[in-house]
Amino acid sequence: MTSEEIVARVQAAGVVGAGGAGFPTHVKLAARNIDTVIANGAECEPMLRCDQQLMASHPDLVIRGMRLVMQAVGAKVGLVAVKAHYASAVQALQQELDSQKDTEDARAWPVKLYIIEKSVYPAGDEFCLVYEVTGRLIPEAGLPLNVGCVVQNVGTLANIALAVDGGVPVTHRYVTINGEVRSPKTVNAPIGMSFDKVIALAGGYTRDPGELRVIVGGPMTGHTVADPASETITKTTGGILVLPTENEVVRFMSRSLEAWTKRGKASCDQCRDCTVLCPRHLLGHGFSPHEIMRAGAYDINVKNSVLTGAVLCCECRLCEAYSCPLELSPMQFYKKMKRELAAAGWKNDVHHRSDLVPDDSREGRLVPTERLVARLGVGKYHSWPVAWDESEVRVDRVTVSLKQHIGVPAQAVVAQGDSVVAGQLIASPPEGKLGANIHASIAGRVVSVSDKSIAIEG
Ligand code: SF4
Ligand code: SF4
Repeated sequence: MTSEEIVARVQAAGVVGAGGAGFPTHVKLAARNIDTVIANGAECEPMLRCDQQLMASHPDLVIRGMRLVMQAVGAKVGLVAVKAHYASAVQALQQELDSQKDTEDARAWPVKLYIIEKSVYPAGDEFCLVYEVTGRLIPEAGLPLNVGCVVQNVGTLANIALAVDGGVPVTHRYVTINGEVRSPKTVNAPIGMSFDKVIALAGGYTRDPGELRVIVGGPMTGHTVADPASETITKTTGGILVLPTENEVVRFMSRSLEAWTKRGKASCDQCRDCTVLCPRHLLGHGFSPHEIMRAGAYDINVKNSVLTGAVLCCECRLCEAYSCPLELSPMQFYKKMKRELAAAGWKNDVHHRSDLVPDDSREGRLVPTERLVARLGVGKYHSWPVAWDESEVRVDRVTVSLKQHIGVPAQAVVAQGDSVVAGQLIASPPEGKLGANIHASIAGRVVSVSDKSIAIEG
């Protein structure tokens, strides 16, 4: 199979980055001058399990996906980066690699495990992961391909394997449901299924929903949702968490920008803890979170580069949730600044340094997951068993979002009243625009079409 055929099948199946914002995968696979493909199996967000369970249950798909990506981009090194303490995943992947070692594919596209010994946050951030695995430093505001690497989440790799070998489109998503639910588990949910129905799959809430909040994503990079009945699963939904309203994560996520600003003005003592623990600052990126606090909290005039340095913040939330002893949030100021820069049409021609030197003390300043978990008050949910349940999920209605990816929304190719089968193409991006195809996750009748979503009833 040629690279072009792999890319075409991935594009047809609507594969997008499963671990992040949903960058269309076929575009990443068109990269050239790549020598290394890294599978991101770090899964560093507390409470989530879907990636480690996928690696343990379907190592064949992850490794097949790796080899297809290597073939597509012409890379000769493939490394599956997985934390040492994800023991079942490590064992399953190693067994799979051993069983394939004499095959033609394995000789042409050799894949090895890269064991991440320390469990730290945010190990899965692409800049941190590429440095950990290869020692290469992605330039400020750059991409892994700037240093000859392609990074793919393990869920994306499984979807690539299914798309290329079986023509299977992305219609389902492994989602971990954890927290205050009766039976925490990971399920393979149809895209478009509402959160409240997904929570019911895990036995429902343990107490009055009025005492709980639902979070989509992880406790660090996720966000609370106002109405779980009107939010639906997308290709990038890795977790639905249910936490008590008094929990640290909920408390922080519920605070408004005004409240963050008020706290910053009242309290920031410029201690620099946010800066010395910032993962991007530790890689040598030219920004210092405590400096944005001077500007944001004190209205002090600072150099423009302090403000535009916002583009270097990866929004890992470490400064807000862990580093600052006074519960302040440089990240919120950076997010605000990013919005203002975008609204002003600002283009980044400042922050592209590639002569980066990691901080000498970086190793000692990486934040252990266990300490973060304790700070977030999610210890029991992080460590208790979460079942892996691959049984078929039946649902009689889905509302499929047309914007599950980076780029422009997909446009419907079906109309109200049409009958569709599961896996049928229902929307695609306009010709020549960045985006991804979208397919029906259940068979049924299209009951509504808008510029935001398509609803299907089975
Ligand atoms: S935001 Fe917090 S950690 Fe950062 S300088 Fe101010 S008080 Fe220190
Ligand atoms: S969220 Fe905070 S800790 Fe994370 S990169 Fe941004 S400034 Fe640094």
